[in-house]
Amino acid sequence: MSAPRLEIDLDKITHNARVLVEDLGARGIVVTGVTKAALGAVEVAKAMLRAGVSGLGDSRIENIEAMRLQRISAPIMLIRSPMLSQAERVVKCADISFNTELAVVRRLSSAAQNAERTHGIVLMVELGDLREGILPADLINAAREVVRLPHLALTGIGVNLACHSGVAPDQHNMMALSALADEVEAALDVKLELVSGGNSANLNWALGNGRVGRINHLRLGEAILLGREPLHREPVDGLHTDAISLVAEVIESKTKPSLPWGTLAETAFGGDVTSTDTGAMARAILAVGEQDIAPDGLEPPEGLTILGASGDHLLIDCGQRRLQVGAEVRFAVNYSALVRAMTSPFVEKAMARGSALRRGAARAHAGSV
Ligand SMILES: *Cc1c(COP(=O)(O)O)cnc(C)c1O
Repeated sequence: MSAPRLEIDLDKITHNARVLVEDLGARGIVVTGVTKAALGAVEVAKAMLRAGVSGLGDSRIENIEAMRLQRISAPIMLIRSPMLSQAERVVKCADISFNTELAVVRRLSSAAQNAERTHGIVLMVELGDLREGILPADLINAAREVVRLPHLALTGIGVNLACHSGVAPDQHNMMALSALADEVEAALDVKLELVSGGNSANLNWALGNGRVGRINHLRLGEAILLGREPLHREPVDGLHTDAISLVAEVIESKTKPSLPWGTLAETAFGGDVTSTDTGAMARAILAVGEQDIAPDGLEPPEGLTILGASGDHLLIDCGQRRLQVGAEVRFAVNYSALVRAMTSPFVEKAMARGSALRRGAARAHAGSV
């Protein structure tokens, strides 16, 4: 296998999704598997579908189109407000989209009419995180407009928290969303199929002891892929946190002084390095850099420390170890490192069901960590 690469254990992803589908199902909540961090990779989409998610969600129409081209027929929702300029593509490939602007909703209606389809609309409500959302006071009028427009169905309402401002989902804002669902239904004499409470940041609330009220849907990406909830980045009980790892190869390994010499100015990426003089140290360079990963989002194996990164180089303090040129080093990734690595054309994506990955790893170079 080539390096750098992301190793993606599809069986662990299926396991994570299945545990969440079952635990949330017991609370009356269905799960949409969010594929955006995997760039809509069809293998990851299928791993989620095998676990019984009710459908898929992605923020990019390109990813949704790619999944359709590869014959994914499950329901797919576009979870970012569509661009006006993409309305035709949206109604063609996505069954449902999340919306906050009536100009877009109107364009979706005419695009759906031309395509002779019905497109589902979830109206997103602003409940304090200050990313996307219609203010609660404007929700009923917006919902009325959706109901009035041809070729649209008002599928539900939803909220997104813990993204821009870090507002945590809690009993208070979830009950506010429930109450809004009741109000829309009463005012317009409709039934909302989905009341979508949020993303992986909702898990602590959704699996806690509070009443779930009307909330019957979550959109989960990070928890399925990385096994953690994003509020405190704690592992979620029963989930694998190592379904995805990044492997990079050593291209230099030397003992060097711990202090740089010469006149110090800015570094390649603008920060400064603070070095302390600890004498000579074992340092290694791995062939992966800012262009491929978020260095802060990598967790190295025991005994190794990340010193920093530039565009193409990751610098490692090897501690008591000595890494050989050609050896591979495996890192755990967080969400930012995952997204950056998935997006880099220089990082191979090695996706396999569990046993195939293990066979590949057994062939890896001796001395790898
Ligand atoms: C990214 C996103 C999600 C999924 O978030 P995770 O933290 O990965 O679970 C859900 N909803 C919306 C609107 C998103 O943008």
